[in-house]
Amino acid sequence: MREYPFEMALCAHLEAREEAVVARQLGGGVRAPANRVLDVLCVEPGPGMDDRAALTAETIPHAAVESDVGVGRSRDPVTAIDAPPERARSVAERAVEVGFFERTVEGGVRRAARYPDDWFDRIVGVENKPDLGTPGDLRLQLRKDVSLALVDEVVLATESYVTGAHLNRIPEPVGVWRFDPESGEREVVRAAEPLPSDQAGVELLGEQPLRTDVAVVSAEAKARQRRRMAERAYGKGWRPDALPACGEAEVEEREGSEGLPYCAWKDRVVDPANCGPSCPGHDPADPPKVDVAELRDGRTPWVAEPEGKARRQSGLDRFG
Ligand code: SF4
Repeated sequence: MREYPFEMALCAHLEAREEAVVARQLGGGVRAPANRVLDVLCVEPGPGMDDRAALTAETIPHAAVESDVGVGRSRDPVTAIDAPPERARSVAERAVEVGFFERTVEGGVRRAARYPDDWFDRIVGVENKPDLGTPGDLRLQLRKDVSLALVDEVVLATESYVTGAHLNRIPEPVGVWRFDPESGEREVVRAAEPLPSDQAGVELLGEQPLRTDVAVVSAEAKARQRRRMAERAYGKGWRPDALPACGEAEVEEREGSEGLPYCAWKDRVVDPANCGPSCPGHDPADPPKVDVAELRDGRTPWVAEPEGKARRQSGLDRFG
């Protein structure tokens, strides 16, 4: 089984079974976010979930959340947002666009509402490795996650039969699921142990034969990165940004979760990034029309259209 269809099926399954915002492919580092990309993220709701959902369906720029722009008086974004002037203006612009800031008559901005810091609770990171026979750098990736402890739990998801030898090679706090992407059956082979996500961690930046580069990351820096990840997950979700522009492309459903890109010619879920004109079955056509927001709405605590706010038809746009 290829990783992409496995990941799609797992996301659909988690969306159907868990009370969490599900997203995929998000940076899981602090000093070097791109140094570790987490396959799947489950963000569990906290007490402020409804308040967050009422703000906007989109990701709020972190620089706007961390800025000195409050709900009261008007502020000039250039002085209230910690960024170079041009960037501060564009962050404010985006924050207005998504409804987190509003323009004031004085020409500045203020928050439309308080940001609920407690909107999310635990974050679970899932590393997908459908075939444990080709582990690649799996062990290093999991060691990075355990050492930094940015998420509260790390789980390895696989389709393979998991042997004792496999378990011995996987860092101890990492949980293991055996997941069948066809039936949606998930067996917990080993439960994950909680990681100290609220304490300082050590980020593994690189490893060479005689040298490992690391950085100590404070609890505060981790907390900020967790909020950033949760925000990205909230706006992004797991469904692909584009479906193939091919007459063979269809929209697939698993466990009631729709939006997986399916190819009738190959008879399987396909990665839109890897299919196109060079494929022998390619039949140029408009991509299937899908409203991603409509598919996602009501399946998780994410809300497509917060009350009183018009929904941007991002789903339709994205599927062009
Ligand atoms: S390009 Fe090939 S893989 Fe992609 S949808 Fe068309 S037939 Fe399927």
